Amino acid sequence: MTEPIRSPERPRVALFELASCAGCQLQILNCEDELVDLLQLVEFVYFKEAMTETSDHYDLALIEGSVTRESDEEKLRHIREKAALVVTLGSCAYPVGVPGLKNAHDPDEVGSLVYGEDAGFFPTIEAKPVDAVIPVDLHILGCPIHKDDFMRVLTALLIGKHPPVPTHAVCVECRLKENVCAFDRGLVCLGPITRAGCGALCPSYGSRCFGCRGLCDDPNVASMEVLLEEKGKTAEEIMAEYGLYNGYYARRDGGLKAKVAR
Ligand code: SF4
Ligand code: SF4
Ligand code: SF4
Repeated sequence: MTEPIRSPERPRVALFELASCAGCQLQILNCEDELVDLLQLVEFVYFKEAMTETSDHYDLALIEGSVTRESDEEKLRHIREKAALVVTLGSCAYPVGVPGLKNAHDPDEVGSLVYGEDAGFFPTIEAKPVDAVIPVDLHILGCPIHKDDFMRVLTALLIGKHPPVPTHAVCVECRLKENVCAFDRGLVCLGPITRAGCGALCPSYGSRCFGCRGLCDDPNVASMEVLLEEKGKTAEEIMAEYGLYNGYYARRDGGLKAKVAR
């Protein structure tokens, strides 16, 4: 049982943004049918995409984006001291997502590509997920998060429950939908090792899973690697598939023994 967010009045919620596209914040603003009711239950005190007011007093911190600057680490440690609960939003914050792609390249080269001769004014560090710097209570997964997932997690936290986190792989949801498997359509799909919860969104629309929700519990990495190799993929291509969203922990663990979200 998770402790409810304790506050004398409505719990105060602050939403912080690190390196991201702000798409997960927009998903919250897309909760148009629920926002009026939600604001009866919580008070947003910082939410850059939605309001100009700011406050350094909050019970729940929502964090979108990856750590890419030393100042981000200081900011996170301050947030952790202030907030009773820290919840990440989206793949950039966990397992690192798109900002982590730069880690596979020379940092100076990447800096010059983006900022040209002004790169020296924008020092960056290796892109990291939030939980590489501070303890995190929950991850809301996906790129972007799904608004229903956000409402489900927030509702559970408000009544002191730990929202259930699927432990199985996307393939389970995909097979229940009776989709034609991406492998049978000549594609490579990371559904066998990716955490469920999205309803197999991408394969259901004729695409494949790119692994945006991170790894499921006990992913059968060995079988997945054999399967990909059978499909004519090289080790580098396989790591590139993993690395789109899971690069940070995959690189650290020397394979796909990455951490799983809880
Ligand atoms: S997880 Fe995806 S949608 Fe959310 S901020 Fe990152 S890139 Fe944007
Ligand atoms: S399409 Fe992907 S998620 Fe669906 S069953 Fe095939 S491998 Fe699994
Ligand atoms: S199918 Fe895969 S890439 Fe698509 S939303 Fe689900 S976890 Fe993310």
